[in-house]
Amino acid sequence: MNREHLEAELRAALVEHGLKFAPSGLSQGTSGNLSVRWHDGEAEGMLITPSGVDYTRLRPQDLCFLRLDDASGTQWRGPLKPSSEWRFHRDIYCARPDVGAVLHAHPTHATALAVQRRPMPAFHYMVAVAGGRDIRCAPYATYGTEELSRNALEALAGRRACLLANHGMITVAADLSAAFALGVEVEELARQYLLALATGTPVVLPDDEMDRVLEAFKSYGANAQKKAAADGGAD
Ligand code: 13P
Ligand code: ZN
Repeated sequence: MNREHLEAELRAALVEHGLKFAPSGLSQGTSGNLSVRWHDGEAEGMLITPSGVDYTRLRPQDLCFLRLDDASGTQWRGPLKPSSEWRFHRDIYCARPDVGAVLHAHPTHATALAVQRRPMPAFHYMVAVAGGRDIRCAPYATYGTEELSRNALEALAGRRACLLANHGMITVAADLSAAFALGVEVEELARQYLLALATGTPVVLPDDEMDRVLEAFKSYGANAQKKAAADGGAD
């Protein structure tokens, strides 16, 4: 597939996932933002959603391209200004070569935990889906700031998801559909954790059990990968 075709596919995927934000309960209106890593032929960068545009109105041509070496975030290409959170998207791509997509959202349950500045401990083994024994909550900083980006990066160390105090959540993954699926999973975990907190005292799994789960997760999903490869090959 040539570069143009690939870029068109990524732009379409960003629009498609933006449209799924509200129905999946991840974000409403203009809240949240999405990006994918993209090399435009000249420089490594990202395609990111524009700031303040309702996801139901977003078109592929509205997306912004921002180079990762643009630390000021002023040299974007596109008809609209990039998301106010371009900085943490950029800083994540710079720090984490394994990451191909970043999702930021304000889902109700994850945000309810984040306003209490509560991390999610191992109350359920599925917490390991974010890559570790817990899902951290980054300390508060004003949206769009370098400080928020620093806090988010720290909370994401060794993880694929974190909460942002008094704000929402971030998930990262190799591609957009995986980042989105992880966002849905973390929101569901937050819902379960809140319900458990409201009805009693959740039992937290010990570290050695979470280490076993993390080990088992390394091979979980092999079937899905095999099937995707087979389905792809059948087209
Ligand atoms: P943008 O519309 O600028 O992407 O901002 C939404 C948001 O969630 C800020 O944290
Ligand atoms: Zn936000």
